Amino acid sequence: MNRSNLEGGHMGGREPKVVIIGAGVAGIATAATLREAGFTDLTVLEKGTDVGGVWHWNRYPGLTCDVPSQMYQFSFAPKPDWSRVFAPGEEIQRYLRDVVDRLDLARHLRLGAEVVGAEFTGAGWRISVADGSTLEADFLIAATGVLHHPFTPDIPGLDTFAGRVVHTARWPEDVTMRDRRIAVIGTGSTGVQIVSALQPEASHLAHFVRTPQWVMWAPMGLRQPAVVSALLDKVPPAAHRALYDVLLWASGILADITTRPSWRRRLAQEYARWCLRRQVPEPELRRRLTPDYQPLCKRQVLSNTYYRAIRAGNAELVEAPIERVTPRGIRTADGREHDVDLIVLATGFQAHNYMRPMNLRGRDGLTIDEAWAKGPRAYRMTAIPGFPNLFTVLGPNSPTGSISLQYSAELTARYIARWLARFRDRELDTVEVTEPAATRFNDQVAAALGPTVWNTGCNSWYLTEEGTVDLWPFDRATMAELLGEPDDRDFLVRQNLIPDRF
Ligand code: NAP
Repeated sequence: MNRSNLEGGHMGGREPKVVIIGAGVAGIATAATLREAGFTDLTVLEKGTDVGGVWHWNRYPGLTCDVPSQMYQFSFAPKPDWSRVFAPGEEIQRYLRDVVDRLDLARHLRLGAEVVGAEFTGAGWRISVADGSTLEADFLIAATGVLHHPFTPDIPGLDTFAGRVVHTARWPEDVTMRDRRIAVIGTGSTGVQIVSALQPEASHLAHFVRTPQWVMWAPMGLRQPAVVSALLDKVPPAAHRALYDVLLWASGILADITTRPSWRRRLAQEYARWCLRRQVPEPELRRRLTPDYQPLCKRQVLSNTYYRAIRAGNAELVEAPIERVTPRGIRTADGREHDVDLIVLATGFQAHNYMRPMNLRGRDGLTIDEAWAKGPRAYRMTAIPGFPNLFTVLGPNSPTGSISLQYSAELTARYIARWLARFRDRELDTVEVTEPAATRFNDQVAAALGPTVWNTGCNSWYLTEEGTVDLWPFDRATMAELLGEPDDRDFLVRQNLIPDRF
């Protein structure tokens, strides 16, 4: 391992060499937090041509974040002038790029660097990049995200279609929508947004809905008032921080209604039902749009346009199961042929892959596929038995949908920084979470998932192949407590493995 710069950074310490995989929200939060904590030997490897992760790859028409912009930002980089209360995807990508530039994180960044493998050497990690280069690191941090690998369903005949098939997560710039007959498959947040965006342009839009979603009305198009931007621009950083804390506190409502049955949950669910009743007056269409599971069970969809779009004269809801794709369109199980020019797959992601298909090998050659044979699991979202000096940020059981992602990523990065500081202070060379500690945590998670709304009988991307819910079932205070000071009893902490450092 290259030891040339080990003595940098901290007085008398050795600077840990850290490689972060991914420059999306999690990777940027991690790099910024570690830099803030005084660590300088950071390399961020990003396979895309720009930063932003899901916000770089997703460019489909109508892409809007369903988390209010003032909450969908880092605590260390407030943006006073979001254009809308719910920002468009492009603006979020620009914000992430801007944060990287402003905090001078770009010098740590290698774009177009896809990590294909990483192996634990006994004292650190050797990382292989697709271009054939390798890097050595004391610590490896996987900030590879959840909504990363687009899911393409295995529909018979899909490759025989004469027109174009487009996945929303890989939207090409040159696709024509105007006056086309368009099929959209999928009705998650993406499907709902893209139907709303394409319906006004299409000559005909058929929305193939295998399972209807509850769609709550929210003012997705509302501009952030200029006076608010001006005020926020003037307030000092401490006031920004206070505002952020208030918003975090308020967002606790979401964790509360999803994790525990209560009148508050029932009220939110009643609102979802009211939205459908109110916006779809036609009894027959309303019946067809009514899900057979509880609101909030799947990731809640917000929209102020979908019901209007699907009721439009050129739009059609198709619930009959898809039998196959033909050269001319889609044949459904009721024998109908739906002739279309363009098929849009709004079919989501393989959300539980995390760093896979990367060839990740931990101690004694253990592969991540072996370690996760029964599904992805990590101690407190970040540490995996058998994988010393490796941490995940927004890893398994992260709170996609109940607690701010940015908050969770920053908190996890600060937790990791505590371990790095101990490495820097020569208190340890390697650290690995124990199997019993990980099992204990996973048992607590399993018990806490019981009363969550995600566990009330729907199929969603929150579920792993094994049928367990891959989410954070606790509140924010518990997260802060669990990712506070590391508990040594849960770890194997080894010293004196690296003699040339002493
Ligand atoms: P998703 O929620 O996983 O939805 C995938 C959709 O594809 C579902 O309706 C699913 O139907 C359908 N589908 C999958 N395979 C199919 C098949 N073989 N035949 C017919 N239908 C099929 O994916 P997503 O909409 O891309 O959303 C993923 C997550 O991304 C969201 O939950 C959200 O967290 C995030 N997101 C956020 C925003 C935002 O900020 N507004 C926008 C987009 C995405 P079933 O329900 O029957 O399985």
